[in-house]
Amino acid sequence: MTTNPSITTPDNRPVIYDNHGRPITYLRLAVTDRCNLRCFYCMPEEGIKYLHKSKLLSYEEMLRIVSVLAELGVHKVRITGGEPFVRNNLIDFLYRLADIQGIDELNITTNGILTGQYLKQMKEIGIRSVNLSLDTLDSQRFFEITRRDEFSKVYQTLFDLLDGGFEVKINAVVMDGKNTDDILPLVALTEHYPVAVRFIEEMPFNGEGSHYPVLHWNINRILDTIRAAYPSLSKIKDAPHSTSYNYHVPGFKGNIGVIAAFSRTFCGTCNRIRMTAQGELKTCLYDEGVLSIRDLIRSGISNEELKGIFINTFQQRAKDGFEAESRRTKLVTESMTTIGG
Ligand code: SAM
Repeated sequence: MTTNPSITTPDNRPVIYDNHGRPITYLRLAVTDRCNLRCFYCMPEEGIKYLHKSKLLSYEEMLRIVSVLAELGVHKVRITGGEPFVRNNLIDFLYRLADIQGIDELNITTNGILTGQYLKQMKEIGIRSVNLSLDTLDSQRFFEITRRDEFSKVYQTLFDLLDGGFEVKINAVVMDGKNTDDILPLVALTEHYPVAVRFIEEMPFNGEGSHYPVLHWNINRILDTIRAAYPSLSKIKDAPHSTSYNYHVPGFKGNIGVIAAFSRTFCGTCNRIRMTAQGELKTCLYDEGVLSIRDLIRSGISNEELKGIFINTFQQRAKDGFEAESRRTKLVTESMTTIGG
């Protein structure tokens, strides 16, 4: 084990803290930049220029990176993308990832189009929680938002996941003039189903190069809309490091969350880092990518050296998403599909 003062071992588990005293325990790993949807708030209609396969991290490289991070105390991994299930042999990779010592929570974020066929294996791998992106319950609006006619498949996946006993969180981006009429129907889902519906503020990661959206629907406006229809809406306890502020309508089976992704009010407890599909380490969603781990690995670096580099990088983490954004050389306009959300 590297002897760095920022590593301590409460509960016999390594923990590494950043320069603001926040433990780094959670990795969001993008396994591809490709997606089978074209959500307008994420990508232009014609898509983005996808990376050549040689520029993507291989599964072997990802396994190595996760093993090193696990030795530093990362114990939770969420697989994202692009759409994770469009990468070949994802399931085989997940079996291997779940076997890494120290990784005790492996989850996935998906748009639900290809997911249904893999539920049995996902269970076997030990995936308990699935984030399903679903911005509307109206198939025509789904088409307008995603530019693909896939609503029925995604909707079916929602119920298959629930039937399969997965903990399901629906992620819905709230977009002015697009799906605000969906807020209440999505909340109504929580009456009969044990699902967490989370409303996310729209962020500027739209791949359009210059279009930086104005936030019309912040979490307060979203909550006011819900409260007007459900005055009994009650605050419930948030899990440690949660990015969502969580609520419940008494008597309903599920919960409701709001995520201040643009207002960035939760950075003080942020325990997460991101690895893009091309192996860029991001210590904040809003940074530009602080280091190419892919290039370091391909230059022949040892695991011990890599550990030291992670430790040092975690000591330079921005205090919050605003500081990370202010350190950038370019506007935040890259597509979320290159980052992983
Ligand atoms: N394909 C997977 C999915 O659809 O869940 C994983 C990747 S997707 C980029 C991850 C999440 O980012 C989705 O919930 C998506 O809605 C969200 N997202 C993408 N662009 C966004 C934006 N501009 N603002 C807010 N959320 C965004």
